[in-house]
Amino acid sequence: MGYHQPRQPKRVPSPGDGDPRHGQYAGYVAGCRCRPCTNAAVDYQRFMEQERKRRAARPKNPDGKGRRAAGPNDHGSAYGYGLGCRCQTCRDANAARAAAWLAEVQQMGIAPDDPRHGTRYVYLTFRCRCQPCVEANREYVRAWELRRARQVG
Ligand SMILES: [Zn+2]
Ligand SMILES: [Zn+2]
Ligand SMILES: [Zn+2]
Repeated sequence: MGYHQPRQPKRVPSPGDGDPRHGQYAGYVAGCRCRPCTNAAVDYQRFMEQERKRRAARPKNPDGKGRRAAGPNDHGSAYGYGLGCRCQTCRDANAARAAAWLAEVQQMGIAPDDPRHGTRYVYLTFRCRCQPCVEANREYVRAWELRRARQVG
């Protein structure tokens, strides 16, 4: 009487079965290869490809060259600075944001067992003077001086 039928974990939509997923990427993912589902998958992949390219293009030009210029409403905000603008208002806004962020982080403090100990970040931000942090800072300064000595002579 059908009591022992193995349970179907997922129903694969087949063309013409009225499954609402037809014509969507979800239909394709579920295993349907009807034309609308395939088209949807192609569209989706094309979209993802464009998205990927768009993202890949963004981190380039770290010096700010060739970036979209800050619009008139972007100035005076850390956002304008993020766009690469270095006008005084944008610099001030960015500095203010950085200071606010720093104050907030310092307020939260750092636990003695925080895994970030042993970094110059903790040394500077929290003025932590534990052994690993002091060591990390000393290491940084040493490397920096070495590099400078090499550049000079
Ligand atoms: Zn389909
Ligand atoms: Zn600006
Ligand atoms: Zn520390």
